[in-house]
Amino acid sequence: MKKRIIATTIAMAIGGSMSMAQEIATWSGDRKGAVSFTFDDGAPSHVSDAGPMFDNYGYKATFNLVTNWNPNWEGFQGLADNGHEIASHSKTHNQGMSGEEASSKADISQKITQKYGCLTVAYPIKWQESTDPEIFQECNVSNADAVKQNYIAGRICDHSQHEVPEIMGKDGPSDWAMVPAITTGSGGLEGSENFIQKMQDAVKQNGWVMFLTHGFRGKNNGSATYSPTYIADIDGALQWAKENDSDIWVASFRSTAMYVKERIASKVNKKSNDANSITFEVTHNIKDNVSDYDYPLTIKIKNANNWTNVKAAQSGADIETNIVDDDILVDAVPNAGDVIVYDADAITLPSSSSVAESSSANAPKSSASTPKSSASTPKSSASTPKSSASTPKSSASKQSSSSAKTPKSSASSKSSSSTTAIASINYEATVAVFNENGYITVRDAQGLSITVFNSLGHKVRETRGLGCEQKVYSGAKGMYIVKVGSRIFKTELR
Ligand SMILES: [Zn+2]
Repeated sequence: MKKRIIATTIAMAIGGSMSMAQEIATWSGDRKGAVSFTFDDGAPSHVSDAGPMFDNYGYKATFNLVTNWNPNWEGFQGLADNGHEIASHSKTHNQGMSGEEASSKADISQKITQKYGCLTVAYPIKWQESTDPEIFQECNVSNADAVKQNYIAGRICDHSQHEVPEIMGKDGPSDWAMVPAITTGSGGLEGSENFIQKMQDAVKQNGWVMFLTHGFRGKNNGSATYSPTYIADIDGALQWAKENDSDIWVASFRSTAMYVKERIASKVNKKSNDANSITFEVTHNIKDNVSDYDYPLTIKIKNANNWTNVKAAQSGADIETNIVDDDILVDAVPNAGDVIVYDADAITLPSSSSVAESSSANAPKSSASTPKSSASTPKSSASTPKSSASTPKSSASKQSSSSAKTPKSSASSKSSSSTTAIASINYEATVAVFNENGYITVRDAQGLSITVFNSLGHKVRETRGLGCEQKVYSGAKGMYIVKVGSRIFKTELR
């Protein structure tokens, strides 16, 4: 097939090609429903048991800390490093936040480094003094304004204490300061099958369900003594979710809340569409001084031209694509520049080889090795390790048999791309991945997607490059595969 070079910045005339309609998926990955697991009170078992259990499935949870209760900050930072959310559950666990909306957030922001920051809160009940049922039921927000000035969403306790539904609809709660949950454990929901039922209900309703868990039976729970849950119940729930991963999105409260708010507020503006590419932008105008609302939204595009080798880039950085049935799915960050989705069999983005000169010096030796476990890894990159660093685009080609065509296209792009180089492609060529004090660390990955797989091939971390040096993962010892943009690295945690 003849390849040609296009520049993403040049708007292309709408030709005679099939129109490719695009929309924002209701849930990330175009799943049918969502579930969030939240854990209150900062129990030691949250670090020792819950975090590793979620990591085992590659899912993220929310851990709500009482900042004056001396939580294991280092341990919770480890959870944050793995992509879990660390959120507020007040400073002192007194009734109704007792004015600690801003101060507890400040505590967490100071102690915990996490992408997107401390964005959600769960309101406490002062159990010891709550024998009066009237007070007991006040797991409520006493100052919604203070909540909304500091957080994108606040979680109440069990839905049954309020006039709110157990399963939220696709647009979330009627009031973001009163997001309902289902209490688990001896004082609430028990048995994996009942967790699964709630998730099935969420899927059926295209909705969202949230669980509220304290400590675990038989584990070290510190002050989180209320309503202990069998850890096997949650493990069973996660196992079901994994088996039904195309239907249910397991994500932190923060991610889910960001996604819903962004989806409701965002528009997709198509800028151009021809036979081989579509260019659009995703924008919203949310301003609340709490978050930039820059969680990636899944954009669903009708694959009208039946492309089989689809790639995408946003502001020049490669982004993930998936073909599901008749749709192309891409995860794009709102307000972060143009997204181009293209038929990689037909065209090549400019500049893929323009940085060849600077690429090999910084590239770690391990970049040549290819994970056997990763299904997406192209065979061709293993057979041509030397060239894969200098031609990241061509190495990602799905068919190893296409390598014969590759030199031709990379040669042509070399000669024509000097003035149209995309900055982030430069970054991609200089990306390095290494082990630094027990952390998988990525250098020079600004704007690129970063995905870490463990030796079993499970995705354990997914994030976006911030530039410079960035700790992206700390977990069990062993070999890991790190995908940065379109490049694959292998590294060992010792
Ligand atoms: Zn609590």
